[in-house]
Amino acid sequence: MSAGIRRLDTVGMRAATAALVSAGTRISLVPTMGALHEGHASLIRRSRADGHATLVSVFVNPAQFGPTEDFGRYPRTHEADVELAASAGADMVWFPEVHDLYPSASVGVAGTPRLGVAGTMHVCAGPTGEVLCGASRPGFFDGVCTVVLKLFSLSRAHVAHFGEKDWQQLVLIRQMAREFHLGVVVRGEPIVREPDGLAMSSRNRYLQPEQRSTALALHRTIEFARARFAAGERSAARLEEALLGAWRAEESAAPRALRLDYLSLREPDTLMPAEQLAPATRLVLAAYLGDVRLIDNAPLGGGSTSASEGGGA
Ligand code: AMP
Repeated sequence: MSAGIRRLDTVGMRAATAALVSAGTRISLVPTMGALHEGHASLIRRSRADGHATLVSVFVNPAQFGPTEDFGRYPRTHEADVELAASAGADMVWFPEVHDLYPSASVGVAGTPRLGVAGTMHVCAGPTGEVLCGASRPGFFDGVCTVVLKLFSLSRAHVAHFGEKDWQQLVLIRQMAREFHLGVVVRGEPIVREPDGLAMSSRNRYLQPEQRSTALALHRTIEFARARFAAGERSAARLEEALLGAWRAEESAAPRALRLDYLSLREPDTLMPAEQLAPATRLVLAAYLGDVRLIDNAPLGGGSTSASEGGGA
């Protein structure tokens, strides 16, 4: 166990944050599902740089997994998570139990609550939660928003850090904080990538070696889009068509190994389909490699999306 960092259950976390709040200390929350990597570490480091007491939550949220998704096999690496959180500068790691967050959920035979949020009080993410990832994963963003609301209220956080890696999630959490007047400042941090450009993700560890190189198709597609934009393309329809062509070439190079879920050019703050392209227009995409689903996104212009060694892309 790392010295200096506190590993807390929900009761311990509540006591620790109550004491911090009465001492006038600001609290930053970094919500995660664990299997921590450099992407998570960048959020923790950002919080430390702001001088806040930094609380990392680790919770694999059953309410955001569909019945055929990877809830059961999602990596749970608590000891390594505490080590990584400590080395990035976190003060506390909080491991909530399912019943802390879902006290009225019915419990199934495996000891897990019934998947999904139906039947318990929950947040409805609304139309922005039904497109893109929400179209492929019905109810996913209801589950995400519900758990984040609970994490916010239990932790008493002043600030919360999220990765741009999950762009749609960031847009929705910002919307929830605004519409429900949560009083939590939601900060978005750049995507951290592997040296070859693959966006870091806890799910990358599912990839077989040959899938690992095929997965670079997502980053190549982003680079292709940014190059076209830099060369003067300003029509979303034309660029989307070109991107789908490039993607089909990627799929033929890896027959049956790669399948597009969606690829779209969107307005960054509303996720409405873009028409005229601008530097902030976001390319968002998701693809399956076998049964592993990966997502990525980037703005068409502005800062680099290339690899970095842990400090942010
Ligand atoms: P997760 O554990 O996958 O739910 O992610 C927890 C937080 O870390 C979310 O806000 C993610 O957007 C963020 N995150 C995950 N991967 C990355 C990455 N490669 N770069 C930056 N943030 C990330």
